[in-house]
Amino acid sequence: MIVSPNLALSWLKEGNEAYINSEKNHLGDISLEKRLHTHKHGQNPYAVIVTCSDSRVIPESIFMAGIGDLFVIRLAGNVVADFGMGSIEYAIDHLNCKLIVVMGHTMCGAIHSAIEDSHSNYISSIIKEIQFAIKGEKDNTNAAKINVLNTINKIKSSEIIKEKLKDDLKIVGAMYHTHSGHVEFYK
Ligand SMILES: [Zn+2]
Repeated sequence: MIVSPNLALSWLKEGNEAYINSEKNHLGDISLEKRLHTHKHGQNPYAVIVTCSDSRVIPESIFMAGIGDLFVIRLAGNVVADFGMGSIEYAIDHLNCKLIVVMGHTMCGAIHSAIEDSHSNYISSIIKEIQFAIKGEKDNTNAAKINVLNTINKIKSSEIIKEKLKDDLKIVGAMYHTHSGHVEFYK
């Protein structure tokens, strides 16, 4: 089933509300039926989630999503390089997903390292990308938001995404608050 961007967004908000109010982890549909159905008929995830690798940020739980619901791309600091862009294009162009959410989070270690300019080896390429985006911003949450907007702009530079945005694709920025579990969607 192909889902419209507005319906997908309402499912994410509903799922996040259920997540905040649940004491135990009630996941989305992870039943045998759903597993066999998606195995046989393939996947039509209703949202692409681009987020950080941070272990406190767990998209399927945060949105109470199950098998076949979310197409998730995760790198520290929710940056996207060519492989990430390719994954996003695949979900949009081949799986007919209509909603992309770029979700930063509070207390992000990658953002912290970019502000403090402390890094080594492989992580330096991530930190440089974030530093280029945040341009000296020192507040962690503000910097995380600027970094989300930068990732959105990068995704929008894809020719495939540009074309789909003229149709019914939607890209939304968001911030996951690690203390409350709340996802704040940007307008
Ligand atoms: Zn992070």
